[in-house]
Amino acid sequence: MKLILLGPPGAGKGTQAQRLEENHGYIQLSTGDMLRAAVAAGTEIGLQTKDLMARGELVPNDVVVEIISERIDLPDCVDGFILDGFPRNVAQAEALDEMLADKNLKLDAVVEIAVNDGILINRIEKRASETVGGPREDDNAESLKNRLVVYHEQTAPLIEYYHNKGVLKSIDGMADVDEVSKQIEEVLKQR
Ligand code: AMP
Repeated sequence: MKLILLGPPGAGKGTQAQRLEENHGYIQLSTGDMLRAAVAAGTEIGLQTKDLMARGELVPNDVVVEIISERIDLPDCVDGFILDGFPRNVAQAEALDEMLADKNLKLDAVVEIAVNDGILINRIEKRASETVGGPREDDNAESLKNRLVVYHEQTAPLIEYYHNKGVLKSIDGMADVDEVSKQIEEVLKQR
């Protein structure tokens, strides 16, 4: 199963991707997690992206496209993967289409976890207060506001992009975590 989880910051993509990994063995590919690891390790990519991430801006497309392309080639992805936080704009989605065609792979579904902004702000404040080891550098009010603006301007157009390709499924991300998981499982069953 090759899946994209699409949705704004705080929609629950990471939580749902982890559950899918635990239950089915599909590998969670979170560009945000990979970039945070690069920042923590002080790699060249980490140094290049640290400030952009802290401000809630997108990092350059070629950086994330390359990261995902290399990661998908690792053997653990052969039974399936979940893209969590990628693609984030139309250029990345087009690069993904090309990449998958080159690798002879095909997406099974794009699941939009739909949540309104008011709920997101509460959820992210809660995540910031509960994260072991302190909040993420970008879980603060200013960065969050910017991440939502970036989402609406750059990422939300992907809903139409994938709708037009006939692969989009939208689910209600305002329901509780178990209910959202159930809805995603239903979508996967229909594949
Ligand atoms: P996330 O953990 O998905 O919320 O991502 C955290 C931050 O990492 C984002 O605000 C961006 O700065 C960066 N990032 C993650 N994924 C991407 C992507 N696909 N394209 C560009 N920047 C990204």
